[in-house]
Amino acid sequence: MSLSPKPISGEDCTRRAPDIPLADKRKSNDKAYIIEIDHVSKWFGEKQVLDDVSLFIRKGEFVTILGPSGCGKTTLLRILAGFNMPTDGRVLMNGSDITDVPPFERPMNTVFQRYALFPHLNVYENIAFGLKLKKEDEDSIDRQVRRVLKIVGLTDYEERDVDSLSGGQQQRVAIARAIINRPQVLLLDEPLAALDLKMRKDMQMELKQMHKDLGITFIYVTHDQEEALTLSDTIVVMNKGRIQQIGRPTDIYNEPVNPFVADFIGDSNILNGIMVEDHKVLFMYHEFECVDEGFQPNEHVDVVLRPEDIYIMARNANAMINGKVSACIFKGVHYEMTVVTDRGYELIIQDYNMFEVGQEVSLIIKPSDIHVMHRERFSNTVKAVLKDSTHVEMLGGIFECEPQEDIEAGTDVTVNFGFDDVELMDYSDEGAATGTVSFILYKGNHYHLTVTSDSGEDIFVNTSEVWDDGDMVGIKILPQAVKISKA
Ligand code: ATP
Repeated sequence: MSLSPKPISGEDCTRRAPDIPLADKRKSNDKAYIIEIDHVSKWFGEKQVLDDVSLFIRKGEFVTILGPSGCGKTTLLRILAGFNMPTDGRVLMNGSDITDVPPFERPMNTVFQRYALFPHLNVYENIAFGLKLKKEDEDSIDRQVRRVLKIVGLTDYEERDVDSLSGGQQQRVAIARAIINRPQVLLLDEPLAALDLKMRKDMQMELKQMHKDLGITFIYVTHDQEEALTLSDTIVVMNKGRIQQIGRPTDIYNEPVNPFVADFIGDSNILNGIMVEDHKVLFMYHEFECVDEGFQPNEHVDVVLRPEDIYIMARNANAMINGKVSACIFKGVHYEMTVVTDRGYELIIQDYNMFEVGQEVSLIIKPSDIHVMHRERFSNTVKAVLKDSTHVEMLGGIFECEPQEDIEAGTDVTVNFGFDDVELMDYSDEGAATGTVSFILYKGNHYHLTVTSDSGEDIFVNTSEVWDDGDMVGIKILPQAVKISKA
């Protein structure tokens, strides 16, 4: 199946037929947008948390903003709610600019992870609180409280102390309080994160039903990909303050646009490959038939194989790939096995049949189960300044380079180096610069790491050494690998 070129920061992150009424990154002539997030960026001091985010949300949609911790999703929600101001860009609601409108004047309400209920008030009083402040008449308040109690499934709980309720019931009270004013948009910030697994699953179903019954727009923030896949009409995947992909849950799962999305949504095997020609891709030393086309001959690509799409069987002579099971875990419905191929690749495979550790197996992958993506990058390119003929300043450090005869000291230059040319060391060891491991992609026989230098730039490193997310590292590059050209 073909995957679109990756668009980490480009304009077009979306691949959706224009007639599908869901959130999108680019505006069409459709007038049904309730929310327009228009080129929003946000800085906290020196730190950029949102980078040119544009998103158009249609009336009645259930949109989930999904991404790892720190990717900026809560900040985006707080900007929508009016609790934070964007540094750049605008927020529009029903076509009007609401960027400067205070939270309480926006026809939207927020449900937080922490329920923030009043412990000294019972369920009824918690829900009625806002209306009483507005001095609405008692009969009207009573009608409205009973209406929302029914929606959240808490009829008969009105006299209960909120402290006596379970976490799920307390969250229902919080939702009732948020919807009593009939907001046009309900913002939900990880509302189920504090609940146990069983309660979370039940509440997911109930939230979906509430969304249907209320008919209003839900904008939901979570880092839980399963929750996003279950609940949403549209998922917006974010990383490092940028939108990576927008799509229906099935689009995001089946056609991730880049390795980050493929890795973040569901389990995947992501491998380096070469697109030999249309419908022919080489990886794991085997040429596979695939359904992809539109690549350059011999283009280096990323190949995604979902664990459930690899067929595993006892070893046989006609198989594409042979290997041995190195781990096997029962996951409730299926078994998850790690297979090390005879040529040294490690693959995760899910199957209803169990193959024991040590068993010799064969693997088959069907053409339509191979997902090919254009490579995001082929080497590192960073901005630098030549300090003297043999030193260049980049990534917040001074790196040695081969003598530069034609470039004057002080000149802005561009430096290129390969993923294999970087050596990572412990932070305290000597490296020309320092940074933090910020993303790890396992590619079957090596790791492809993103390292964010302390000066804020990302570089990419291939290594067979095991590092953890968040590890602080020293960065070393051999002088002969530092390729310099004038900026
Ligand atoms: P999480 O799920 O962990 O809350 P998130 O994706 O919702 O992550 P945000 O809460 O939006 O991320 O935070 C993004 C980044 O912005 C983080 O590095 C966070 O520390 C930083 N940040 C958020 N609010 C502020 C603030 N008021 N001042 C300074 N930095 C902030």
